[in-house]
Amino acid sequence: MKKLLYLIISAIIISCGSNNHISEINEITGITATKYANTITVEDLKTHLYTIASDEFEGRKTGEPGHKKAAEYVKNFYINSNIPSPFEGGNYYQIIPTKHLRPNLNPSENVLAFIEGTEKPEEIIVLSAHLDHLGVRNEEIFNGADDNGSGTVAILKIAEAFQKAKEAGNGPKRSILFLHVTGEEKGLLGSKYYVNNPIFPLKNTITNLNIDMIGRVDDVHEQNPNYIYLIGSDKLSTELHNISEEINKKFTNINLDYTYNGDEDPNRFYYRSDHYNFAKNNIPIIFYFNGMHQDYHEPSDTPDKINYEQLQKRAQLIFYTTWELANREHRIIVDK
Ligand SMILES: [Zn+2]
Repeated sequence: MKKLLYLIISAIIISCGSNNHISEINEITGITATKYANTITVEDLKTHLYTIASDEFEGRKTGEPGHKKAAEYVKNFYINSNIPSPFEGGNYYQIIPTKHLRPNLNPSENVLAFIEGTEKPEEIIVLSAHLDHLGVRNEEIFNGADDNGSGTVAILKIAEAFQKAKEAGNGPKRSILFLHVTGEEKGLLGSKYYVNNPIFPLKNTITNLNIDMIGRVDDVHEQNPNYIYLIGSDKLSTELHNISEEINKKFTNINLDYTYNGDEDPNRFYYRSDHYNFAKNNIPIIFYFNGMHQDYHEPSDTPDKINYEQLQKRAQLIFYTTWELANREHRIIVDK
């Protein structure tokens, strides 16, 4: 009887433990993660975004000089931050020939950087954001500060935070691939090319966190800008969804809005950005998105309209979520 009672009590404790705490980040590793999350500053996000979304980059149209200039900027950031590429010889570009884009487009490139895991280097987390935008139309420059300068600069600062951790001996156990895709605005072409020509086997790609527009506040949240829409987190892995929720509660306390996550949602955002090419291959994804606003796909999507505090918080949420996924003992399970 005593033994049985002990077993029951321990079963209750174990089940409570596993139900309530999925995250394996403890007090000490939490402090470490926070130290690096805090290197994602408003000031740096602003500096990078005012550059990427400046007129000099001519709206970053796929295959055009403005996009090439932006690709150079991203590449040079990685070189200066000592973050290597996954390719031999310091090449950061995956060149995409015209036949894999559209007939009227010049060849273009995805930009890739890579932090190798210390314990399970063969297991990969892909952080993605498209770098391309709409270019120049009728002599008006489409700066694309939110779409998707915001996602681009978030990835730069997240990568830098992980690199600083690595240099101090706190590198991620799994590998992280930072993927700046081209051709998104032309039909998710850069991410399609990547999944058809992956640098690392897709079966070892455990998650894709995709960022497309995280710098603005939509009309619905005008009074309470501390939010982000999450799409797709529960579609393939219950565990991924639960981790994402718990990490947010623990570190960032953003209102995670699932309005656009329903299968019946008429906007069909789940199918409309680069993560979908990963989801199609049964890779669990989360899509981070601030929703629509009046400057969406207009020349007025400029960096002065970005809410940099929210951009910082959202980038930090993605950093912490990546930290958990990269360092937990078992890779997340696909159960749907
Ligand atoms: Zn976009």
